[in-house]
Amino acid sequence: IGPGARRRISILGSTGSIGVSTLDVVEQLGGREAFDLVAITGNSNVELLARQAKTFGARMAVTADDARYAELKEALAGTGIEAGAGRKAVMEAAAAEAEWVMAAIVGTAGLAPTLAAARRGADIALANKECLVSAGDLFVHAVREGGGRLIPVDSEHSAIFQSLEDDQHHAIERIVLTASGGPFRTWSRDQMADVTVDVAKAHPNWSMGLKISIGSASMFNKALEMIEAKHLFDLRPDQIEVIVHPQSIIHSMVGYRDGSILAQLGAPDMRTAIGYALTYPDRPQLNVERLDFAKLARLDFEAPDEVRFPALRLARTALERGGAQGAVMNAAEEVAFDAFCAGRIGFLAMADIAEEVMEAMIGYPAAGSIDGVFAADAEARRSAAALVSKRTMAA
Ligand code: NAD
Ligand code: MG
Repeated sequence: IGPGARRRISILGSTGSIGVSTLDVVEQLGGREAFDLVAITGNSNVELLARQAKTFGARMAVTADDARYAELKEALAGTGIEAGAGRKAVMEAAAAEAEWVMAAIVGTAGLAPTLAAARRGADIALANKECLVSAGDLFVHAVREGGGRLIPVDSEHSAIFQSLEDDQHHAIERIVLTASGGPFRTWSRDQMADVTVDVAKAHPNWSMGLKISIGSASMFNKALEMIEAKHLFDLRPDQIEVIVHPQSIIHSMVGYRDGSILAQLGAPDMRTAIGYALTYPDRPQLNVERLDFAKLARLDFEAPDEVRFPALRLARTALERGGAQGAVMNAAEEVAFDAFCAGRIGFLAMADIAEEVMEAMIGYPAAGSIDGVFAADAEARRSAAALVSKRTMAA
Protein backbone atom coordinates (compact mmCIF):
# COMPACT_ATOMS: atom_id res chain seq x y z
CA ILE A 1 0.00 0.00 0.00
CA GLY A 2 1.42 3.38 -1.00
CA PRO A 3 1.21 6.33 1.39
CA GLY A 4 -1.66 7.79 -0.64
CA ALA A 5 -3.78 4.75 0.02
CA ARG A 6 -3.56 4.87 3.77
CA ARG A 7 -6.96 4.41 5.35
CA ARG A 8 -8.14 7.47 7.28
CA ILE A 9 -9.44 6.44 10.69
CA SER A 10 -10.28 8.03 14.05
CA ILE A 11 -10.68 6.49 17.49
CA LEU A 12 -13.01 8.11 20.00
CA GLY A 13 -12.04 6.81 23.44
CA SER A 14 -8.58 5.63 22.36
CA THR A 15 -7.27 5.44 25.93
CA GLY A 16 -9.91 2.96 27.13
CA SER A 17 -10.00 -0.80 26.96
CA ILE A 18 -11.56 -0.90 23.48
CA GLY A 19 -9.42 2.02 22.29
CA VAL A 20 -6.19 0.31 23.31
CA SER A 21 -7.30 -2.95 21.67
CA THR A 22 -8.20 -1.02 18.52
CA LEU A 23 -4.70 0.45 18.32
CA ASP A 24 -3.28 -3.03 18.84
CA VAL A 25 -5.27 -4.24 15.83
CA VAL A 26 -4.17 -1.19 13.83
CA GLU A 27 -0.57 -2.04 14.72
CA GLN A 28 -1.05 -5.68 13.68
CA LEU A 29 -2.46 -4.54 10.33
CA GLY A 30 0.45 -2.28 9.44
CA GLY A 31 0.32 0.66 11.87
CA ARG A 32 1.14 4.08 10.46
CA GLU A 33 2.19 2.58 7.13
CA ALA A 34 -1.35 1.43 6.51
CA PHE A 35 -3.43 3.91 8.50
CA ASP A 36 -3.67 7.67 8.61
CA LEU A 37 -4.84 8.35 12.17
CA VAL A 38 -6.93 11.50 11.80
CA ALA A 39 -7.97 11.95 15.44
CA ILE A 40 -7.88 10.19 18.78
CA THR A 41 -9.71 11.27 21.91
CA GLY A 42 -9.44 10.44 25.59
CA ASN A 43 -10.33 11.92 28.92
CA SER A 44 -8.14 11.91 32.02
CA ASN A 45 -5.22 9.75 30.86
CA VAL A 46 -3.41 12.46 28.90
CA GLU A 47 -0.06 10.75 29.18
CA LEU A 48 -1.32 7.65 27.35
CA LEU A 49 -3.20 9.80 24.83
CA ALA A 50 -0.02 11.71 23.94
CA ARG A 51 2.01 8.51 23.72
CA GLN A 52 -0.55 6.94 21.37
CA ALA A 53 -0.64 10.08 19.21
CA LYS A 54 3.14 10.02 18.84
CA THR A 55 3.43 6.27 18.24
CA PHE A 56 0.78 6.24 15.55
CA GLY A 57 1.44 9.67 14.09
CA ALA A 58 -2.06 11.02 14.80
CA ARG A 59 -2.90 14.39 13.30
CA MET A 60 -5.01 15.43 16.26
CA ALA A 61 -5.28 14.34 19.92
CA VAL A 62 -8.10 15.62 22.10
CA THR A 63 -8.86 15.24 25.78
CA ALA A 64 -12.46 15.75 26.88
CA ASP A 65 -11.14 17.33 30.07
CA ASP A 66 -10.65 21.11 29.63
CA ALA A 67 -8.38 21.28 32.66
CA ARG A 68 -5.78 19.05 30.99
CA TYR A 69 -5.18 21.10 27.88
CA ALA A 70 -1.84 22.52 29.02
CA GLU A 71 -0.58 19.07 30.00
CA LEU A 72 -1.50 17.62 26.60
CA LYS A 73 -0.12 20.60 24.68
CA GLU A 74 3.15 20.26 26.55
CA ALA A 75 3.37 16.51 25.94
CA LEU A 76 2.87 17.08 22.21
CA ALA A 77 5.15 20.09 21.88
CA GLY A 78 7.32 19.96 18.77
CA THR A 79 5.55 16.96 17.25
CA GLY A 80 3.24 18.88 14.92
CA ILE A 81 0.28 16.97 16.39
CA GLU A 82 -2.65 19.27 17.08
CA ALA A 83 -3.81 19.25 20.70
CA GLY A 84 -7.39 19.95 21.75
CA ALA A 85 -9.48 19.87 24.91
CA GLY A 86 -13.09 20.07 25.96
CA ARG A 87 -16.36 18.75 24.68
CA LYS A 88 -16.42 20.98 21.63
CA ALA A 89 -12.96 19.79 20.60
CA VAL A 90 -14.11 16.15 20.97
CA MET A 91 -17.02 16.95 18.64
CA GLU A 92 -14.62 18.46 16.11
CA ALA A 93 -12.36 15.43 16.30
CA ALA A 94 -15.37 13.16 15.80
CA ALA A 95 -16.50 15.10 12.74
CA ALA A 96 -13.03 15.26 11.17
CA GLU A 97 -12.52 13.65 7.76
CA ALA A 98 -12.08 9.98 8.62
CA GLU A 99 -13.53 7.13 6.59
CA TRP A 100 -13.89 4.90 9.63
CA VAL A 101 -14.52 5.91 13.23
CA MET A 102 -14.27 3.66 16.27
CA ALA A 103 -16.91 4.86 18.75
CA ALA A 104 -15.48 3.71 22.08
CA ILE A 105 -16.25 6.49 24.54
CA VAL A 106 -18.02 5.00 27.55
CA GLY A 107 -21.59 5.97 28.40
CA THR A 108 -23.95 8.66 27.18
CA ALA A 109 -20.96 11.00 26.80
CA GLY A 110 -20.35 9.08 23.56
CA LEU A 111 -23.68 9.89 21.96
CA ALA A 112 -23.09 13.42 20.62
CA PRO A 113 -19.59 12.74 19.23
CA THR A 114 -20.65 9.46 17.62
CA LEU A 115 -23.64 11.18 16.04
CA ALA A 116 -21.34 13.88 14.68
CA ALA A 117 -19.17 11.21 13.05
CA ALA A 118 -22.23 9.43 11.68
CA ARG A 119 -23.75 12.58 10.22
CA ARG A 120 -20.48 13.37 8.51
CA GLY A 121 -20.73 10.03 6.74
CA ALA A 122 -18.00 7.94 8.33
CA ASP A 123 -18.39 4.19 8.73
CA ILE A 124 -19.13 3.75 12.43
CA ALA A 125 -17.57 0.86 14.32
CA LEU A 126 -19.88 0.94 17.31
CA ALA A 127 -18.62 -0.13 20.71
CA ASN A 128 -20.62 2.55 22.53
CA LYS A 129 -23.89 0.64 22.92
CA GLU A 130 -25.39 3.52 24.88
CA CYS A 131 -25.92 5.36 21.57
CA LEU A 132 -28.45 2.76 20.52
CA VAL A 133 -30.00 2.26 23.93
CA SER A 134 -30.65 5.99 24.36
CA ALA A 135 -31.24 7.21 20.85
CA GLY A 136 -32.24 3.95 19.12
CA ASP A 137 -33.79 4.48 15.73
CA LEU A 138 -32.75 8.13 15.66
CA PHE A 139 -29.15 7.05 15.78
CA VAL A 140 -29.58 4.35 13.13
CA HIS A 141 -31.32 6.92 10.97
CA ALA A 142 -28.47 9.42 11.41
CA VAL A 143 -25.94 6.85 10.21
CA ARG A 144 -28.11 6.03 7.22
CA GLU A 145 -28.57 9.71 6.33
CA GLY A 146 -24.81 10.23 6.60
CA GLY A 147 -24.25 7.38 4.16
CA GLY A 148 -21.75 5.41 6.25
CA ARG A 149 -22.08 1.87 7.49
CA LEU A 150 -22.91 0.86 11.04
CA ILE A 151 -20.73 -2.07 12.09
CA PRO A 152 -21.20 -3.48 15.59
CA VAL A 153 -18.17 -4.05 17.79
CA ASP A 154 -19.88 -5.39 20.88
CA SER A 155 -18.86 -9.06 20.69
CA GLU A 156 -22.44 -10.38 20.81
CA HIS A 157 -23.65 -8.04 18.10
CA SER A 158 -20.59 -8.64 15.97
CA ALA A 159 -21.36 -12.36 16.26
CA ILE A 160 -24.94 -11.79 15.13
CA PHE A 161 -23.79 -9.51 12.32
CA GLN A 162 -21.37 -12.22 11.19
CA SER A 163 -24.08 -14.88 11.41
CA LEU A 164 -26.61 -12.96 9.34
CA GLU A 165 -26.98 -14.14 5.81
CA ASP A 166 -27.60 -11.51 3.13
CA ASP A 167 -31.29 -10.82 2.48
CA GLN A 168 -32.38 -13.34 5.11
CA HIS A 169 -33.82 -10.86 7.59
CA HIS A 170 -37.35 -12.12 6.88
CA ALA A 171 -36.24 -15.64 7.84
CA ILE A 172 -34.86 -14.71 11.26
CA GLU A 173 -36.89 -16.28 14.03
CA ARG A 174 -34.83 -15.12 16.99
CA ILE A 175 -31.43 -14.08 18.14
CA VAL A 176 -29.75 -15.62 21.16
CA LEU A 177 -27.46 -13.29 23.09
CA THR A 178 -24.94 -15.18 25.17
CA ALA A 179 -24.00 -13.87 28.61
CA SER A 180 -21.12 -15.07 30.73
CA GLY A 181 -23.18 -14.51 33.86
CA GLY A 182 -20.36 -12.45 35.35
CA PRO A 183 -18.61 -13.00 38.67
CA PHE A 184 -21.91 -13.45 40.58
CA ARG A 185 -23.44 -16.03 38.28
CA THR A 186 -23.93 -18.53 41.10
CA TRP A 187 -24.39 -16.05 43.95
CA SER A 188 -27.59 -15.42 45.90
CA ARG A 189 -29.02 -11.92 46.26
CA ASP A 190 -27.98 -11.91 49.91
CA GLN A 191 -24.40 -12.58 48.89
CA MET A 192 -24.51 -9.79 46.32
CA ALA A 193 -25.97 -7.23 48.73
CA ASP A 194 -22.69 -6.12 50.31
CA VAL A 195 -20.14 -6.56 47.52
CA THR A 196 -17.57 -3.84 46.88
CA VAL A 197 -16.57 -2.36 43.52
CA ASP A 198 -13.33 -4.35 43.55
CA VAL A 199 -15.13 -7.65 43.90
CA ALA A 200 -17.78 -6.75 41.32
CA LYS A 201 -15.33 -5.60 38.67
CA ALA A 202 -13.38 -8.88 38.52
CA HIS A 203 -14.82 -10.48 35.38
CA PRO A 204 -14.07 -14.18 34.90
CA ASN A 205 -13.39 -14.09 31.12
CA TRP A 206 -13.04 -10.59 29.71
CA SER A 207 -10.75 -7.73 30.63
CA MET A 208 -12.75 -4.51 30.14
CA GLY A 209 -13.39 -0.96 31.36
CA LEU A 210 -14.94 -0.39 34.80
CA LYS A 211 -18.48 0.47 33.69
CA ILE A 212 -18.97 -2.62 31.55
CA SER A 213 -17.27 -4.87 34.12
CA ILE A 214 -19.74 -3.79 36.81
CA GLY A 215 -22.48 -4.08 34.20
CA SER A 216 -21.48 -7.68 33.60
CA ALA A 217 -21.75 -8.44 37.31
CA SER A 218 -25.25 -6.91 37.55
CA MET A 219 -26.14 -8.10 34.03
CA PHE A 220 -27.04 -4.50 33.21
CA ASN A 221 -24.62 -4.84 30.34
CA LYS A 222 -26.74 -7.64 28.89
CA ALA A 223 -29.83 -5.51 29.46
CA LEU A 224 -28.28 -2.73 27.37
CA GLU A 225 -27.29 -5.30 24.75
CA MET A 226 -30.87 -6.56 24.39
CA ILE A 227 -31.98 -3.04 23.46
CA GLU A 228 -28.90 -2.54 21.31
CA ALA A 229 -29.82 -5.71 19.37
CA LYS A 230 -33.38 -4.54 18.77
CA HIS A 231 -32.22 -1.37 17.02
CA LEU A 232 -29.24 -2.85 15.19
CA PHE A 233 -31.14 -5.76 13.71
CA ASP A 234 -34.70 -4.39 13.66
CA LEU A 235 -36.18 -7.09 15.89
CA ARG A 236 -39.35 -7.46 17.91
CA PRO A 237 -38.85 -7.84 21.68
CA ASP A 238 -40.04 -11.46 21.58
CA GLN A 239 -37.25 -12.32 19.12
CA ILE A 240 -34.52 -11.46 21.63
CA GLU A 241 -33.35 -14.26 23.93
CA VAL A 242 -30.58 -14.37 26.50
CA ILE A 243 -28.73 -17.54 27.50
CA VAL A 244 -26.02 -17.78 30.13
CA HIS A 245 -22.92 -19.41 28.68
CA PRO A 246 -20.13 -19.19 31.27
CA GLN A 247 -17.18 -19.90 28.93
CA SER A 248 -17.85 -16.93 26.58
CA ILE A 249 -16.83 -18.98 23.53
CA ILE A 250 -20.05 -18.70 21.54
CA HIS A 251 -20.41 -14.94 21.19
CA SER A 252 -24.09 -15.08 20.10
CA MET A 253 -26.36 -16.80 17.62
CA VAL A 254 -29.06 -16.26 15.02
CA GLY A 255 -31.94 -18.73 14.83
CA TYR A 256 -33.71 -19.01 11.46
CA ARG A 257 -37.24 -20.19 10.67
CA ASP A 258 -36.00 -23.55 9.36
CA GLY A 259 -34.62 -24.35 12.80
CA SER A 260 -31.00 -23.63 11.83
CA ILE A 261 -28.78 -21.74 14.20
CA LEU A 262 -25.74 -19.81 12.96
CA ALA A 263 -23.19 -18.76 15.54
CA GLN A 264 -19.81 -17.09 15.76
CA LEU A 265 -17.24 -18.57 18.13
CA GLY A 266 -13.82 -17.48 19.27
CA ALA A 267 -11.61 -16.77 22.24
CA PRO A 268 -12.95 -13.98 24.45
CA ASP A 269 -10.83 -11.23 22.90
CA MET A 270 -12.38 -8.01 21.61
CA ARG A 271 -9.70 -7.69 18.95
CA THR A 272 -11.53 -10.20 16.74
CA ALA A 273 -14.69 -8.08 16.64
CA ILE A 274 -12.66 -4.88 16.30
CA GLY A 275 -10.63 -6.31 13.42
CA TYR A 276 -13.77 -7.53 11.68
CA ALA A 277 -15.28 -4.04 11.96
CA LEU A 278 -12.08 -2.48 10.65
CA THR A 279 -11.69 -4.60 7.51
CA TYR A 280 -15.34 -5.58 6.89
CA PRO A 281 -16.36 -7.30 4.69
CA ASP A 282 -12.89 -8.84 4.59
CA ARG A 283 -11.34 -10.67 7.54
CA PRO A 284 -7.96 -9.52 8.79
CA GLN A 285 -4.99 -11.71 9.70
CA LEU A 286 -4.96 -11.47 13.50
CA ASN A 287 -2.66 -12.71 16.16
CA VAL A 288 -5.27 -13.80 18.72
CA GLU A 289 -5.69 -17.06 20.57
CA ARG A 290 -7.07 -19.98 18.52
CA LEU A 291 -9.72 -22.24 20.03
CA ASP A 292 -8.67 -25.75 20.94
CA PHE A 293 -11.91 -27.73 21.14
CA ALA A 294 -10.37 -30.83 22.66
CA LYS A 295 -9.03 -28.67 25.46
CA LEU A 296 -12.34 -26.86 25.88
CA ALA A 297 -14.09 -30.25 26.05
CA ARG A 298 -17.49 -28.72 26.73
CA LEU A 299 -19.67 -25.64 26.47
CA ASP A 300 -22.29 -24.98 29.15
CA PHE A 301 -25.61 -23.18 29.12
CA GLU A 302 -28.02 -22.02 31.83
CA ALA A 303 -31.30 -20.13 31.78
CA PRO A 304 -30.83 -16.54 32.98
CA ASP A 305 -32.33 -15.71 36.37
CA GLU A 306 -34.34 -12.49 36.24
CA VAL A 307 -34.96 -12.56 39.99
CA ARG A 308 -31.30 -12.45 40.93
CA PHE A 309 -30.53 -10.24 37.93
CA PRO A 310 -33.50 -7.86 37.59
CA ALA A 311 -31.71 -5.82 34.92
CA LEU A 312 -32.80 -8.41 32.36
CA ARG A 313 -36.44 -7.96 33.34
CA LEU A 314 -36.04 -4.18 33.15
CA ALA A 315 -34.66 -4.42 29.62
CA ARG A 316 -37.61 -6.52 28.54
CA THR A 317 -39.95 -4.00 30.13
CA ALA A 318 -38.17 -1.15 28.35
CA LEU A 319 -38.41 -2.99 25.04
CA GLU A 320 -42.11 -3.65 25.48
CA ARG A 321 -42.97 -0.14 26.64
CA GLY A 322 -40.88 1.63 24.03
CA GLY A 323 -41.05 5.43 24.26
CA ALA A 324 -38.13 6.90 26.14
CA GLN A 325 -37.72 3.90 28.42
CA GLY A 326 -34.37 2.80 26.97
CA ALA A 327 -32.86 6.26 27.45
CA VAL A 328 -34.39 6.43 30.93
CA MET A 329 -33.11 3.02 32.01
CA ASN A 330 -29.62 3.81 30.71
CA ALA A 331 -29.40 7.26 32.33
CA ALA A 332 -30.75 6.09 35.69
CA GLU A 333 -28.33 3.21 35.68
CA GLU A 334 -25.36 5.48 34.93
CA VAL A 335 -26.23 7.62 37.94
CA ALA A 336 -26.73 4.54 40.11
CA PHE A 337 -23.44 3.07 38.86
CA ASP A 338 -21.56 6.24 39.84
CA ALA A 339 -23.21 6.12 43.27
CA PHE A 340 -22.25 2.46 43.72
CA CYS A 341 -18.64 3.21 42.73
CA ALA A 342 -18.58 6.10 45.22
CA GLY A 343 -19.74 3.72 47.96
CA ARG A 344 -23.03 5.59 48.39
CA ILE A 345 -25.41 2.75 47.54
CA GLY A 346 -25.22 -1.03 47.52
CA PHE A 347 -24.89 -3.27 44.48
CA LEU A 348 -28.56 -4.31 44.38
CA ALA A 349 -29.79 -0.74 44.70
CA MET A 350 -28.62 -0.03 41.15
CA ALA A 351 -31.46 -2.03 39.62
CA ASP A 352 -33.96 -0.79 42.22
CA ILE A 353 -33.20 2.81 41.29
CA ALA A 354 -33.34 2.15 37.56
CA GLU A 355 -36.71 0.45 38.01
CA GLU A 356 -38.16 3.26 40.13
CA VAL A 357 -37.10 5.89 37.62
CA MET A 358 -38.51 3.85 34.74
CA GLU A 359 -41.84 3.58 36.57
CA ALA A 360 -41.88 7.30 37.32
CA MET A 361 -41.27 8.15 33.66
CA ILE A 362 -43.53 5.51 32.16
CA GLY A 363 -45.51 7.93 29.98
CA TYR A 364 -42.50 9.90 28.84
CA PRO A 365 -42.82 10.07 25.06
CA ALA A 366 -40.37 8.70 22.53
CA ALA A 367 -37.99 11.42 21.49
CA GLY A 368 -38.52 12.83 18.02
CA SER A 369 -35.09 14.44 18.05
CA ILE A 370 -31.73 14.09 19.69
CA ASP A 371 -32.56 17.05 21.93
CA GLY A 372 -35.57 15.06 23.05
CA VAL A 373 -33.27 12.15 23.94
CA PHE A 374 -31.08 14.48 26.00
CA ALA A 375 -34.17 15.86 27.76
CA ALA A 376 -35.32 12.36 28.76
CA ASP A 377 -31.77 11.52 29.80
CA ALA A 378 -31.52 14.65 31.99
CA GLU A 379 -34.90 14.06 33.62
CA ALA A 380 -33.98 10.44 34.42
CA ARG A 381 -30.67 11.56 35.90
CA ARG A 382 -32.35 14.10 38.17
CA SER A 383 -34.83 11.53 39.32
CA ALA A 384 -32.12 8.87 39.92
CA ALA A 385 -29.92 11.35 41.80
CA ALA A 386 -32.82 12.19 44.10
CA LEU A 387 -33.33 8.49 44.82
CA VAL A 388 -29.63 8.05 45.56
CA SER A 389 -29.74 10.97 48.03
CA LYS A 390 -32.83 9.56 49.72
CA ARG A 391 -31.12 6.22 50.23
CA THR A 392 -27.88 7.77 51.41
CA MET A 393 -29.76 9.82 53.99
CA ALA A 394 -31.76 6.82 55.14
CA ALA A 395 -28.60 4.75 55.62
P1 NAD B 1 -13.12 2.44 29.27
O1 NAD B 1 -13.64 3.04 30.51
O2 NAD B 1 -11.96 1.52 29.34
O3 NAD B 1 -12.73 3.62 28.23
C1 NAD B 1 -13.61 4.68 27.99
C2 NAD B 1 -13.00 5.71 27.06
O4 NAD B 1 -13.88 6.85 27.02
C3 NAD B 1 -11.65 6.24 27.52
O5 NAD B 1 -10.85 6.56 26.40
C4 NAD B 1 -12.01 7.53 28.26
O6 NAD B 1 -10.97 8.45 28.25
C5 NAD B 1 -13.17 8.01 27.44
N1 NAD B 1 -14.10 8.86 28.20
C6 NAD B 1 -14.57 8.63 29.45
N2 NAD B 1 -15.40 9.60 29.83
C7 NAD B 1 -15.47 10.48 28.79
C8 NAD B 1 -16.17 11.70 28.57
N3 NAD B 1 -16.98 12.23 29.49
N4 NAD B 1 -16.02 12.31 27.37
C9 NAD B 1 -15.20 11.80 26.43
N5 NAD B 1 -14.50 10.65 26.59
C10 NAD B 1 -14.64 10.00 27.75
O7 NAD B 1 -14.36 1.76 28.55
P2 NAD B 1 -14.36 0.49 27.56
O8 NAD B 1 -14.49 -0.73 28.35
O9 NAD B 1 -13.29 0.64 26.55
O10 NAD B 1 -15.79 0.70 26.86
C11 NAD B 1 -16.02 1.68 25.87
C12 NAD B 1 -17.38 1.41 25.25
O11 NAD B 1 -17.33 0.16 24.58
C13 NAD B 1 -18.53 1.30 26.25
O12 NAD B 1 -19.69 1.83 25.68
C14 NAD B 1 -18.67 -0.20 26.46
O13 NAD B 1 -19.98 -0.58 26.83
C15 NAD B 1 -18.33 -0.71 25.07
N6 NAD B 1 -17.83 -2.08 25.04
C16 NAD B 1 -16.67 -2.40 25.70
C17 NAD B 1 -16.20 -3.70 25.68
C18 NAD B 1 -14.90 -4.10 26.36
O14 NAD B 1 -14.47 -5.23 26.23
N7 NAD B 1 -14.25 -3.21 27.08
C19 NAD B 1 -16.92 -4.69 25.01
C20 NAD B 1 -18.08 -4.34 24.34
C21 NAD B 1 -18.54 -3.02 24.37
MG1 MG C 1 -20.93 -7.40 24.82
